Amino acid sequence: MKNQVENRDNSFLWFDMEGLKASQIETIYMDNAATTYQKPECVFRAMDEVNRCLSVNAGRGSYQLAQIAVDGIDKLRDEILNLINGRNQAEVVFTSSATVAFNQIIGGLTLCSQDRVYVSPFEHNAVMRTLKLWQDKCGFTMEILPMDVEKMQIDLEKTEYVFRQKPPTHVFVTRVSNVTGYILPTEEIFQLAKELTNGRALVIVDGAQSFGLIQEDYQRTKYDAFVFAGHKTLYGPFGIAGFIKGKQLKLHPFLAGGTGSASLELVMPQNIHGLEPSSPNIVAMAGLYAAVQFIKRETIEAIYQHEKRLTKQLVKELKNISGVKLYIPQESDNHIGIVSFSMEDYRSDEVGMILDEDYHIAVRTGYHCAPLIHDYIKSKEYGGTVRVSLSYFSRQEEVERLSEAVKRIAWEE
Ligand code: PLP
Repeated sequence: MKNQVENRDNSFLWFDMEGLKASQIETIYMDNAATTYQKPECVFRAMDEVNRCLSVNAGRGSYQLAQIAVDGIDKLRDEILNLINGRNQAEVVFTSSATVAFNQIIGGLTLCSQDRVYVSPFEHNAVMRTLKLWQDKCGFTMEILPMDVEKMQIDLEKTEYVFRQKPPTHVFVTRVSNVTGYILPTEEIFQLAKELTNGRALVIVDGAQSFGLIQEDYQRTKYDAFVFAGHKTLYGPFGIAGFIKGKQLKLHPFLAGGTGSASLELVMPQNIHGLEPSSPNIVAMAGLYAAVQFIKRETIEAIYQHEKRLTKQLVKELKNISGVKLYIPQESDNHIGIVSFSMEDYRSDEVGMILDEDYHIAVRTGYHCAPLIHDYIKSKEYGGTVRVSLSYFSRQEEVERLSEAVKRIAWEE
């Protein structure tokens, strides 16, 4: 195979590379809950190398290159399981995004009208809209886990009560809220749901904002499914996500297509490959593999502590600015990485625009695809929240710059 001559001409790009690089230097990126950006350098390198040397169709050929690609996917499965301490306990199903993972899970559960599905008030539309789609088809009951509105936290006592009164068949709960940064008590909710239904209720956790940031222990809490997004707290690229699937969880195939195996059969294979139709994104997988190596090297504990320190600093500084209203859980132990706020006399998108145009700070504003929580935290009057979200690459000076900018906006009014 012949390597192509390197081409330094950028005219094939749809943007001005040099201009973009210059503006990037000035920009403070604080939208890491949307996607972590920057990525570790090894992620870029791994993707580039695999794109050049190994971007063959894994699982579709018996030649050596295809086999090396398959080995890489298997290694990534092991790494994901190790990260959650779930080896020999669970399986990993890869999907192209967390949203697709939820569609596969919810579509594969064969929900029916007798089912009672609980969701937390913090769920993302990856869960809520997908459930609604299926609720319209099969008419199950949907309940919302009770919230302590003052504390902006789940009320566990009331949760126990409602589970006793109306036992769940399924519980969907996010690990970290992408709006408030609240770390939900998913382990306690799991225990309650299992204890009060003789183990029958299925508990599905959305780890899109937590996997790689919060240490999980699958040996202790065997969630029926735990969804992850490669491009968020795992520091990988777009295009690779999935879920850790408890061995007991039976899912009917929701997506169908080629798996590279049993090709003459029209029914999907009954194993894990039956849940992974279509050509695997080996380039994104290589990026995620490198990202997991990065996380292992730095350690989840160090990443957590770094974000915790910056989160506390940010909360402390924003709290002192008059007219700023914070949407954070009462107990700071249950809070990481994301700080949402609004400002008196401003709509949230106005604050976002000023931060961007006058201070070169990129934050997200609005409802963040979480349809329920804004009624509880009463942020609708501001058009949602201004969400600042940090990463392992965020720095103290950046938090100071953001706080300074918010102070100035508050003074200007
Ligand atoms: N779950 C949560 C908590 C999220 O924050 C997001 C994305 O913002 C998703 C699910 C969906 O992830 P994706 O858009 O990558 O499918």
